[in-house]
Amino acid sequence: MPDWLALYYDRPMEITHGEGRHVWDAEGNRYLDFFGGILTTMTAHALPEVTKAVAEQAGRILHTSTLYLDRHMVELAERVAALSGIPDARVFFTTSGTEANDAALLLATTYRRSNQVLALRNSYHGRSFSAVGITGNSAWSPTSLSPLQTLYVHGGVRSRGPYAHLDDDAFTAACVADLRDMLGQTRGGVAALIAEPVQGVGGFTSGPDGLLAAFREVLDAHGILWISDEVQTGWGRTGDHFWGWQAHDRAGPPDMLTFAKGIGNGMSVGGVVARAEVMNCLDANSISTFGGSPVTMAAAQANLNHLLEHDLQGNARRVGGLLLERLRAAVAGLDVVREVRGRGLMIGLELVRPGTDEPSPEAASLVLEAAREGGLLIGKGGSHLGSVLRIAPPLSLTVAEAEEGAGILQRALETAQTRLEGNARA
Ligand code: PMP
Repeated sequence: MPDWLALYYDRPMEITHGEGRHVWDAEGNRYLDFFGGILTTMTAHALPEVTKAVAEQAGRILHTSTLYLDRHMVELAERVAALSGIPDARVFFTTSGTEANDAALLLATTYRRSNQVLALRNSYHGRSFSAVGITGNSAWSPTSLSPLQTLYVHGGVRSRGPYAHLDDDAFTAACVADLRDMLGQTRGGVAALIAEPVQGVGGFTSGPDGLLAAFREVLDAHGILWISDEVQTGWGRTGDHFWGWQAHDRAGPPDMLTFAKGIGNGMSVGGVVARAEVMNCLDANSISTFGGSPVTMAAAQANLNHLLEHDLQGNARRVGGLLLERLRAAVAGLDVVREVRGRGLMIGLELVRPGTDEPSPEAASLVLEAAREGGLLIGKGGSHLGSVLRIAPPLSLTVAEAEEGAGILQRALETAQTRLEGNARA
């Protein structure tokens, strides 16, 4: 495996199995899972309905490629199209979020006959050649070469940067002015704006609600498409909304949205949803050998049924709200934490060197290790090589588990703060 493969922990962890909101490592330790393999476990680990659907489908037929129809693929396409909010929507299945964004970029650039794309600073959209070209977070974008010409605008990060001192309305106005200014200095058409409604890898950060609605007015005036990257924010993760774009709903639905991660509950399912006119703009044949394969589609159907039947979006809103409150109270006396933010079960804690405003990846690593010792898995992200702790448990998290995890995290934060203060004195 390559040297650049990112691994968590000083002693990397091998995970052997999971159940509900817990996983076990190869040494037999049990952990409460507050990261779900970067939000891939949407409902619960080893959800019996998904396991059954996978086993049944694997025993019937594993794979046929999109040259043939499969009942699960067609049904899921119809359901996702209806859920997407995009009128006259078409769905193309892929095997990852990267590939979904790559497909969206192919569609947008072909439809608009332009390779110019707007993205937000601090964004992450995947690891293919085109996806790193729209990834503003340099820690995850290894090359400046790209088939696209990317123009980065403000709007993803609310609490840092040149507009951080402004209130929400003034912040929105400044970002719109930045967008207009960028477009005014750009020659030729721009194909699309791609944005994560809440930046995931970037550290669970977003602009004010309604920001994308304000952007939309400018985009529409130029005929620029809006692609919402819902790889982390989709399927009710943010509690208040089924899709992240709905926090900006004056904007109406985007022209395209991309999804992946949670819908397969660990199986490789991704896809792009687009208005028919945009989806059908390609004038050549295409297939995906693995996208939409029967086993993954059966898993996604069972997972989606469970999500909707148990109102896990509502659970994310309720339990996520309690967890946010609990964490805010827990960090009140800890100056290693600069901000606790988020919505639903997508909560970020931005860490700094105690007593300063300086982002501290070191603090994040210390907390990650201490939380592991305490039996809790969390993630990290953000610019500055990961100074934000990311909390995104399976959406079935219970109140008791939220309490337990918050307690472990509080102790881990205290440990990290004490150690950092000790280092500063030494
Ligand atoms: N978009 C976003 C917002 C993501 O968070 C990710 C993965 N972290 C991707 C795209 C890429 O997805 P994948 O790793 O499935 O290719």
